[in-house]
Amino acid sequence: MRPLRIAVLGAGVAGLTAALRLGQAGHCVDVYERWPGLGGQAATVDVGSGHLLERYYHHWFTSDRHIVRLCEELGVAEAIQWRPSSVAFFVDGAVHPFTGPLDLLRFGPLPLRDRLRMGLAVVRLQRAGRAVEAYEGETARAWIERTMGPRAWATVWGPLLRGKFGSRADDISMAWLWGKLTLRRKLEGREARQELLGYPGRSFEPLFGALRAAIEARGGRVLIDRPAAALQRAADGGLAVTPAAPGAFRLGHDPRAFAPDGEAQRYDAVIATVPSDVFAALLDDGLRCEVGAAYLARLDSIEYHAALCLLLELDRRFTSHYWTNVADPALPFVGLIEHTNLVEPGHYGGRRFLYVANYLEHGHELLSLDADALLERYLPGLRAVNPAFDPSWVRASWLHREPAAQPIVDVGYRERIPPLRTGARGLVLANTTQVYPEDRGTNYAVRLGEQAAQAVGG
Ligand SMILES: Cc1cc2nc3c(=O)[nH]c(=O)nc-3n(C[C@H](O)[C@H](O)[C@H](O)COP(=O)(O)OP(=O)(O)OC[C@H]3O[C@@H](n4cnc5c(N)ncnc54)[C@H](O)[C@@H]3O)c2cc1C
Repeated sequence: MRPLRIAVLGAGVAGLTAALRLGQAGHCVDVYERWPGLGGQAATVDVGSGHLLERYYHHWFTSDRHIVRLCEELGVAEAIQWRPSSVAFFVDGAVHPFTGPLDLLRFGPLPLRDRLRMGLAVVRLQRAGRAVEAYEGETARAWIERTMGPRAWATVWGPLLRGKFGSRADDISMAWLWGKLTLRRKLEGREARQELLGYPGRSFEPLFGALRAAIEARGGRVLIDRPAAALQRAADGGLAVTPAAPGAFRLGHDPRAFAPDGEAQRYDAVIATVPSDVFAALLDDGLRCEVGAAYLARLDSIEYHAALCLLLELDRRFTSHYWTNVADPALPFVGLIEHTNLVEPGHYGGRRFLYVANYLEHGHELLSLDADALLERYLPGLRAVNPAFDPSWVRASWLHREPAAQPIVDVGYRERIPPLRTGARGLVLANTTQVYPEDRGTNYAVRLGEQAAQAVGG
């Protein structure tokens, strides 16, 4: 195949991986990124004193093979450390450990009979070896209530799914939970007692730097703070990307608000790794026609929930677990992820970091608060989990909002997934809505980036 000139929109894990594979196949690639940094949803923030942390809590599971292989290929795998995870549930006013099968047996908020039924149902699901199709026709709630009982839903699974899908928890497909329970971790074997989680030593940033260097070494360009403002068909049948001026990220996510900056650039093909609504907003009328109403309707039919994540630097430990699921709907957040209970504070000069996590539907009032106002709203909830907590423990805070953080994987989802090839010649879409049935994550963003590169001839 003759070398093509290809634009990749988005320098998250999917976009950077696609660009790498296209460069390796001899194509000439430009990556356009709206944000003045790499990594998309896995991007880091400078927390001072030479330390970087992801804006949103991030780790890898031992089943995350695609990204580990990529790290090996790029020479950054040695930094990955696998550490025992520790998980807890905050329910009925107390924190209950929930790391391994023994914790399940001791889990007081659920009667013993239900605990046993729950463990058995998970083992049966894992052993059944049935394909995902068998679980696509019903909600996780219906399946759990049938196989584990209504109390297991009310106490454990309902709160867990609310933690991820908020008000849409009841609608989530069993296919999604099947992915979580069968692909990520087995209740047998080496990790039965305690799951191991991976974290790449000095943050995800070295991986992004290595990806960028590998793309540039093959003649590609990675243009950060350089969003795409519009996409159209070029006069010669190629595709034209109109770039926006630096600083456009301050105007939000909708590219229609970005002022064009300079000439439209002509490409043979474009891979867009941006969220579906951003993608649709980039298309001019001609490309909308080419993509077609049915494809646009698919894009529109998948709802995203936003992530709202408050990162706190604390002067002391907050919980004794890495991950605390907040299963009390009276609390205004859904999870507490104490990063320095996974990666020792010694890595950060003794500093400690806690993420207060939330997933919310668009328009939720908490999304409009600043970090101080949000901390004030969270204060009673934080004190419910740790009664000694005082705001004077907070040394610094960072607040991030991600509008397209979590696609809502409801029943019938598979039929609505937009194909990678959009129907417009040379135009490929590759975003988190197409990761199925697995839970979206950086590992599957690598796989998706590779599939997107294949789709345009990488
Ligand atoms: C709260 C939270 C916690 C998570 N935890 C984990 C975890 O523990 N482990 C894990 O593996 N994954 C985790 N993930 C998921 C993971 O971060 C994502 O699945 C993955 O990063 C998606 O990569 P992507 O490249 O497909 O999309 P994105 O990272 O969303 O990349 C899309 C890129 O497009 C850019 N863009 C948008 N508009 C334009 C435009 N007009 N022009 C050019 N560029 C544009 C964006 O700025 C962004 O960089 C988490 C996500 C969230 C929100």
